[in-house]
Amino acid sequence: MTGIPDLATVEAMDAADVLRPMRDRFVLPEGLIYLDGNSLGAASSAAYGEIEKAARDEWGQGLIRSWNSAGWFDMPLELGDRIGRLIGAAAGQTVVADTTSINVYKALHAAMGLRPGRNVIVAEGGSFPTDLYVAEGVASTRAGTSILLEGVHAPDIEELIDETVAVVLVNHVNYKSGELRDMAALTKRAHDVGALVVWDLCHTAGALPVELDACNADFAVGCTYKYINGGPGAPAFIYVAERHLAEARQPLSGWWGHARPFAFEQGYAPDAGIRRFQCGTQGILSLRALKGALDIWDDVDMAALRAKSIALTDLFIQLVEAKCAGYGLKLESPRDGTKRGSQVAFAHDNAYEIMQALIERGVIGDFRAPATLRFGFTPLYIGFKDVWQAVEVLEDILRSGAWKDARFAVRAAVT
Ligand SMILES: *Cc1c(COP(=O)(O)O)cnc(C)c1O
Repeated sequence: MTGIPDLATVEAMDAADVLRPMRDRFVLPEGLIYLDGNSLGAASSAAYGEIEKAARDEWGQGLIRSWNSAGWFDMPLELGDRIGRLIGAAAGQTVVADTTSINVYKALHAAMGLRPGRNVIVAEGGSFPTDLYVAEGVASTRAGTSILLEGVHAPDIEELIDETVAVVLVNHVNYKSGELRDMAALTKRAHDVGALVVWDLCHTAGALPVELDACNADFAVGCTYKYINGGPGAPAFIYVAERHLAEARQPLSGWWGHARPFAFEQGYAPDAGIRRFQCGTQGILSLRALKGALDIWDDVDMAALRAKSIALTDLFIQLVEAKCAGYGLKLESPRDGTKRGSQVAFAHDNAYEIMQALIERGVIGDFRAPATLRFGFTPLYIGFKDVWQAVEVLEDILRSGAWKDARFAVRAAVT
């Protein structure tokens, strides 16, 4: 594309977009440009329908019988298999349960257990912090465990991976910059020295296709409330490669992971399959909202999703750099779309205030400390004209200095 696309050009891009009809399946406030689906995905009528049905008919009328008659008990496995299609996982290896933080704990602990005699966890200094906090928690239960960080103990993670390493814990898409890691290459690098890898797919699942099985992945975790649109606090997923299932023991050995939960035996005996990565009773209403969201995903071609995601983020970068030049914004995401997730980050000294001004004008992105403006582009409900309009608003805020108003400097608890 030469020159800066004008309004007519972006409208033509929307008209040619094969994913355009998906937008009608989401519930979004009129006039809002929502560039934060990477933090909390949009609601959908399918999700509402499932919550309503589960609450009114299955809970209200079916009561306890619904654990069997409405399939509540097996839902974590059924939904896990459906998420499997988005992450390249064959059936029987993915279960929906708990939160990503808890699943990092389970996966990391189980992976350490598969590598007795090794006591090093390698992670990344720029990781989403909960992963590091949880790694500290795992290390605290195993005397002699150390954590080595990319960016602290060596510039590149590859340099930290040797025969002493039990597990590498990494984010596939960096939560801030959107930078992508090469899953196949890093997995191979770890396997070559006998280490295992736990992939955090929070900014991957539903943002771009990945192939866990084909990459020979060991463990993966991820959220469903971001790009998958499962709803606020929707339960997370955990993937364990079939070849590890028989040996992998997770530490939260609750009854839902037992081989015979309703035998009420005294001792713990893990289920033979992925069910062993469950702990206790799950939130059924949340699972049902996720089920509704996954009904939409069943109709999504992942290659088309990726192509549109790259086109949206390329367009955003091109327009911001052309129209907002000279206002102190600096691209923090990879310029090459194939190395980027579905988000774009720009650094600015006044990122917080600028984002507050954007939100007041109906363009919702988010701020990540210390100085990042982060914009998520969810191909299912964001169009090219949205991108164009968002940049118009950003340009206006920067040119007018509207963000300098004192009210935009007041910090909220959740950014
Ligand atoms: C959003 C996110 C999480 C969130 O963890 P929760 O337990 O759901 O709060 C974890 N890891 C990464 C990389 C994330 O982006």
